[in-house]
Amino acid sequence: MKITHADLDALNRRFEGSPPRAILRFVHEVFGERAAILSSMQRAGTALCHLADRAGLDLDVLFVDTGVLHAETLATRDTLAATHPHLRVHTLQPEHGFLEQTRREGLLYITKEGQERCCELRKSAPLLAARGKYDVLIGALRRDEGGARAGVKPFALDVEMNALRAHPFASFTREELDAYITEHPDVVVNPLHLMGFPTIGCFPCTTPVLPDEPERAGRWRHLASVAYCGINPTDRGAPGEEVVLDDRYAAALLG
Ligand code: SF4
Repeated sequence: MKITHADLDALNRRFEGSPPRAILRFVHEVFGERAAILSSMQRAGTALCHLADRAGLDLDVLFVDTGVLHAETLATRDTLAATHPHLRVHTLQPEHGFLEQTRREGLLYITKEGQERCCELRKSAPLLAARGKYDVLIGALRRDEGGARAGVKPFALDVEMNALRAHPFASFTREELDAYITEHPDVVVNPLHLMGFPTIGCFPCTTPVLPDEPERAGRWRHLASVAYCGINPTDRGAPGEEVVLDDRYAAALLG
C-alpha cells in the first residue's frame, strides 16, 4: 500500500501529545522486528532507548559510527548495549575509513559542499545500506528543539528508506526530557554533555558551546549556514511524496 503525508494526518492527530511510551508501544506492536531506533547516542536518544528497554520492547538500535566520533560516544554505545537487555545495538559504518576517504576525495568537511558529501558518505549511506530491513525508524527529534524540527510530528515519511519515521518525543519538552533523565539515573548519558557539548556529532565538526549560544552553535561552527547532517528527512526539509509498505499495516496505520 502507498502512504502519503495526507494519509498520516489521522494517525498524527491520534498520537499528538501522547506519552512517548504509548507511541513506542504502538510502533512495536504494529511493526515488531521491522522497527528500529536510530540513535547517535546523545541524551534524547539514550533516554528513548531507556524508555523502550524498561517498557520491555525488543527493538534493534541503529548507530552510525562515522569513524570520527569521540571516544565518549563509542563508550556510551557500549554501556547502553550492555545495560539494556531488550535492545540489540547494531553499528553501521561507511564503506571507507576517514583517512581512505580523504585520500580519495580530499578533506571534505572543511567546505560546505564537501560537508554535504562527507555526511552523505559517512552518515546517510551506511543507513541507506539498511534500506528494506525496516519499515519504521524511531528517532528522538523534539519540536521544541526549534529550527527544522519545529514542526516535527509523531509520524512522518522517509522516502529514501521507504519507511516511516516515528518521533515519540515530538511533543516532549526540554523540561520533560530533563525530568525523565533525572528520575531515571540509569539512563546512559554521553559524558560529553557534561563537558560543554549540548549536541554531539563527529569530532572534526563539533565544538563546545558557550552558555549564551544556541544549543546547536557547536555543530559545523567552521561552516556558515550548516545546521544538520541530513540523516533525518525532517532536517533536510525534503519529505518526498510517498512510501510503499506491506498491506498488513493498513488497518493499524490508516484505520
Ligand atoms: S559531521 Fe563532519 S566529519 Fe562527520 S560526516 Fe559530516 S562532514 Fe564528515
